[in-house]
Amino acid sequence: MMMTHIVQTTGNTPDAIIIGGGPVGSYAALNLAKLGVKVTVFEEHPEIGLPSHCAGHLSIRSLSNMGLYPLPNGIVENTFSTANFYSSAGTKFSLHLSRPVTVAVNRARFDKYLARQAEAAGARFVLNACVQSLIMADGFVKGVNIQRNGGKEEQVYSKITLDAEGVSSRLLRQVGLTALKPEGLVYAVEAEVENVQDVERDAVEVYFGKAYAPGFYGWLIPKLDGTAKVGLATNKGNPQKFLRELMSKHPAASKQLVKAKITQIGYHAISLGGPIDRAYSNGFLAVGDCASQVKPTTGGGVIFGLTCAKTAAETASEALQRGDVSSDFLRVYQKRCSDLLGFDFSVMLRLRRFLDSLSDVKVDEVLRFCGKLGVDKALSDVDEIDFQGKLMLKVLGKPSMLAAMAYFVMLYLSANP
Ligand SMILES: Cc1cc2nc3c(=O)[nH]c(=O)nc-3n(C[C@H](O)[C@H](O)[C@H](O)COP(=O)(O)OP(=O)(O)OC[C@H]3O[C@@H](n4cnc5c(N)ncnc54)[C@H](O)[C@@H]3O)c2cc1C
Repeated sequence: MMMTHIVQTTGNTPDAIIIGGGPVGSYAALNLAKLGVKVTVFEEHPEIGLPSHCAGHLSIRSLSNMGLYPLPNGIVENTFSTANFYSSAGTKFSLHLSRPVTVAVNRARFDKYLARQAEAAGARFVLNACVQSLIMADGFVKGVNIQRNGGKEEQVYSKITLDAEGVSSRLLRQVGLTALKPEGLVYAVEAEVENVQDVERDAVEVYFGKAYAPGFYGWLIPKLDGTAKVGLATNKGNPQKFLRELMSKHPAASKQLVKAKITQIGYHAISLGGPIDRAYSNGFLAVGDCASQVKPTTGGGVIFGLTCAKTAAETASEALQRGDVSSDFLRVYQKRCSDLLGFDFSVMLRLRRFLDSLSDVKVDEVLRFCGKLGVDKALSDVDEIDFQGKLMLKVLGKPSMLAAMAYFVMLYLSANP
């Protein structure tokens, strides 16, 4: 991969600048370049994809729909057709699907793959280039101030800027947009481990329990090489401390992880609050984690971020063609994202509230109830896990799902009178 060249900051002005070479920034760059837009991506780190902080658990169907599956060799670490859910008392509910529905990808390699695709389509990447601030003039974003390799600040102008800086959302404030609210954030830890025991090769493990992952859950994702990714997120306290508790004390996780050795560990926040109300301004679009385009139920942000990145690229290209990058035109981006994902977000936000409202005892009850009702069988032909609002509508017709849903609504109402 090239990516070592330095973009000229004078005489080579890009039409579009992208802040951040994460998956969302690179996919936006790929789509812009395909549309013939001259685009430059600024990434603050020296290497795309590193440091990695993500489990990389993605839906095969969504990747396929975006033309990203199958992936080249070396990126996919495993595929899954089963999910095992455990309560803090150790009750297990298993969901067996009729075929593999998700993959675990090596995120560093996945990110590099997207960046390489974008570069091949004509996008330029500048690494070691941290965007310090936005250049503002007459109420419009006109480019960015960057610092390369710790040197002095340089100005790079463009007609439109796409912010894909991730969950820090530091630059949003400069255009008067609201940065992500702390109450919508959970703090995650993601570890690579060796010596896991009693795990099924094609099953993702999900562990509930307020003593282990308050406000979220823990997970184990086995890899084909016998190692695994283990993590959790929490809305309070120290994630590392909770991870130790999960691995040593959770009735299900401890059996699988008590002898495990952590070989790598990383920390990062996840935004569960649903998309920000306004992700556009004059000459500016926010996309991906920095716009909180993340599933409130699972914290998965890659697929929704890529979906919105494509929409952002199409909108930006259209704006450039019309010669109108004002917020009056760019507001169409918000509407398009909402048309694509709004219903799913509203369902998932309710589901998140429902999950947060359940005590450990109730979670145990729910898992037992799902087992008794045969929810497993009702969901066995599911092949899409991202668009959870549409998924619910699809499965509601099945009698066991109707009964389960009635039970969940009752629980929800009793917890949220
Ligand atoms: C522990 C954990 C596990 C997760 N597991 C999953 C999962 O299994 N599946 C899933 O779909 N999602 C998962 N997520 C969420 C997923 O990681 C994010 O949704 C996804 O990475 C968002 O992509 P992005 O490009 O918007 O942001 P990022 O991946 O954060 O990329 C932002 C990029 O911008 C760069 N940057 C930031 N500021 C600047 C600046 N000022 N100048 C230049 N560059 C800058 C950063 O260096 C980074 O490369 C997980 C998150 C965590 C924390």
